[in-house]
Amino acid sequence: MINQKMKSLGEKRSCIREIFEYGKTRKAEIGAENVFDFSLGNPSVPAPDIVNETLKKLIDNTPAASLHAYTSAQGDFSVRTAIADYMNKTYGDFASADLIYMTCGAAASLTISLTALTDAGDEVVVLTPFFPEYRVFVEKCGANLVEVVLDEEFQIDRKAFENAITNKTSVVIINSPNNPTGTILSEDSVRVISDVLRNKQKEFNKSIYILSDEPYRELSYEKAVPYIPAYYDNTVISYSFSKSLSLPGERIGYILVSSKAVNKTDVYSAVMGAGRALGFVCAPSLLGETADIGVYKENRDILYNALRDYGFEPIRPDGAFYIFMKSPTEYANEFCEKAKEFEILLVPSDDFGCTGYVRISYCVSKDQVINSLPAFKRLADFYKLTER
Ligand code: PLP
Repeated sequence: MINQKMKSLGEKRSCIREIFEYGKTRKAEIGAENVFDFSLGNPSVPAPDIVNETLKKLIDNTPAASLHAYTSAQGDFSVRTAIADYMNKTYGDFASADLIYMTCGAAASLTISLTALTDAGDEVVVLTPFFPEYRVFVEKCGANLVEVVLDEEFQIDRKAFENAITNKTSVVIINSPNNPTGTILSEDSVRVISDVLRNKQKEFNKSIYILSDEPYRELSYEKAVPYIPAYYDNTVISYSFSKSLSLPGERIGYILVSSKAVNKTDVYSAVMGAGRALGFVCAPSLLGETADIGVYKENRDILYNALRDYGFEPIRPDGAFYIFMKSPTEYANEFCEKAKEFEILLVPSDDFGCTGYVRISYCVSKDQVINSLPAFKRLADFYKLTER
């Protein structure tokens, strides 16, 4: 018997992938330059030179047998030490090589961490809007996803958050800078989350973990991104080099258990156990650089300003590479279908747990952004939006 739940997950492609696939077909029909595909978070900026230089050096100077050999189950020790040193130097003393587990990207980090931190029937709290794969990973653990809707500025509402935390809560996932909104959780929000969780831990006499999903940690244009372990001890970080180094195809990331976490060695053992059970051991060992995010900032400024001028209502993003924009009609799906007629591919917000918005992924070439502007203007004219 095949697993019916897995079968339906496999058959039901994510909405984002669906639009991306449509884009590929459409580009083949009318030429890539005529389709303005803002669907996927696939970095357009090349990885920094040092990545390729290091890879070349490794290939030239390392005996082939050890270059491609198995690493330790939790990842190569020298790689974990380099990450711990970098993190401690950059963010303060919360990292230790013994508490870092190398993974195949953030998706693996998330699914391993959730498997390590939950039992069937537990509750995992997410802040809405949220990355749709969270639901898949949480439900695979037999846990239940509980949503807390953020306020209009995508910050935390203390009462709503307090009400969502029960004696079944084992994990709260936060993601800042955020996909899909591009916003950063303010220090106030992080303090509220930490304060409420500390109280709830006491009330229920149990540990509640923050799982901080940070693939966009370095992708902040102006604001500082609060570093969660500095606010809350029971923190596990899920990280990936997919966005910061523009290496999504290499599948490299890690899990970092804060060295301040209560029962940190037990948590780390559970992470190793979950990695083993899910088959994610001996992660890639090839690789504190960051790709040139100035390009994304430039794209944000051009696109955000133009969309506002045309009469749309975009939310100004602080980081990541997404603009969240109000749909001019009630149903975002309908708006995305209309945008397609102008060869603009956008993602409706429904899959992120909220209605009435679209996500515009601007990690594309600057040329695409500039060339798309007349199409966005025609779309605005279609909806009779008032120019600002
Ligand atoms: N978490 C968030 C919020 C993401 O946006 C993504 C990818 O887009 C991931 C996790 C998965 O990252 P990775 O490609 O490293 O698995």
